[in-house]
Amino acid sequence: MNVSAHISQRGDQPHASGPNGPLLLERMVEARTFTHRIAVVLCLFVLIAYLTVVGYTRYRVWGQLEEQAASYLDFVASARAWNALHGGVYVLKAPGVESNPFLRDLGVEPDIVTADGRVLTMRNPSMMTREVADITRGDNGVTFFLTSDRYVNRSNAPDDWEASALAAFARGESSVSGVETIDGRPVFRYMEPLYVEESCLECHAAQGYEAGDLRGGISVVIPYAGIRSVMVRDAWILGVLGVLLSGLVFGSTRGLIRRYQSRLNGMNAHVELMAATDALTGLDNRWMAIARLSEEIARAHRSGEPLSIALLDLDRFKTINDTHGHAVGDDVLQHVAEKMAEVVREYDTVARVGGEEFLIIAPGVCLNDAVALAERVRLAVGGSPVDTCDEPIEVTVSGGVTELGDEEDRADMLLKRADEALYRAKRLGRDRVELAPRGPTTQSTR
Ligand code: GH3
Ligand code: MG
Ligand code: MG
Repeated sequence: MNVSAHISQRGDQPHASGPNGPLLLERMVEARTFTHRIAVVLCLFVLIAYLTVVGYTRYRVWGQLEEQAASYLDFVASARAWNALHGGVYVLKAPGVESNPFLRDLGVEPDIVTADGRVLTMRNPSMMTREVADITRGDNGVTFFLTSDRYVNRSNAPDDWEASALAAFARGESSVSGVETIDGRPVFRYMEPLYVEESCLECHAAQGYEAGDLRGGISVVIPYAGIRSVMVRDAWILGVLGVLLSGLVFGSTRGLIRRYQSRLNGMNAHVELMAATDALTGLDNRWMAIARLSEEIARAHRSGEPLSIALLDLDRFKTINDTHGHAVGDDVLQHVAEKMAEVVREYDTVARVGGEEFLIIAPGVCLNDAVALAERVRLAVGGSPVDTCDEPIEVTVSGGVTELGDEEDRADMLLKRADEALYRAKRLGRDRVELAPRGPTTQSTR
């Protein structure tokens, strides 16, 4: 096994193999949930903004229409008041000018003949309002209607909307407005009440009215189709812009989160690698070695495969440091690490677990084969003196080997037995490998 290859392989797959894999996954799920929340909040915000703008626009448009309608009615009311003040006005009965047939029903003769023989006919406020309405209808589609609950002219009878407006006036409301459909076309309707005034009684007293009575209403009708189509068009434009804008904001937010997430993952992978790696040799450090050993113990129990370890310690390393210096001691440690990595199999793990102490984890290997593996390592290290500026330095290692028992599930128990075997190897003269018996095992197996 090659040390640098070992490192880069771990660096490439931090999520799958690192002990922090689940944490990373959690962070990715968190980022996704966060993105989904942003999408929901954004949609809600755009929807509320859209409904607010559309609602407020309609409120403003209706407000303006009401103001416009009220000023039309003010004008008509002034003209009617002027007419009523004069008890009706006479106009020349030219061809096409008809007498008001309803005046006779009220006991008023509409026509008079002047001394010079011209015929004049009366225009009371009601007739005048209808004729003005005919003119404005032709001009801009705006028209007026008089409504009476005791009508003389049938065309002044209230329709459903006007009847409900009259009921509202009876309850004390001062105006009623709304959008209605008349002859298949949408119109804005605005109506104000008409009260009986002294000047009206001359003609209308016969109907039983008294001054101050609610006599009916006067309404203005403004075409609404053009206004509505502009509002619908604006609502569409606003909606499309809202969708585009929220798509843009969401897309860039998601892109930003993804970019930072992948940077974070990269940094995390690097931190993980640093946390798990021995800086001097590039091998797994003690923390990572124990995590791997625990993983391998669990795997061995699942698969029924054997698992062995070898604990190796450099002999009289302190003397090397003392004689050649600490820097040379470091070179020796790197050299030994490379030798060990070369000798073991691809799926074995070599870790530096102490100052000059190494651990080999050998999955699928029983005790005898593990002793042979440790022997190979011992011979490889012993047979390759370390080149220095001065003379080559001879290094030897001692090893303690043991195998996982069926009943054993703790890494520290395994390490303790290997350490005892290593201690024996040191006591027996160093540069040798000793074995500790296999851990607790049931009778039936192997
Ligand atoms: P033994 O054969 O009994 O193992 O003797 P030893 O001298 O190898 O063992 P000892 O425990 O007495 O000394 C180990 C030495 O390893 C002491 C320490 O200074 C040295 N050491 C530990 N870590 C490093 C390191 O990273 N670099 C260097 N150069 N030396 C180290
Ligand atoms: Mg030593
Ligand atoms: Mg030692």
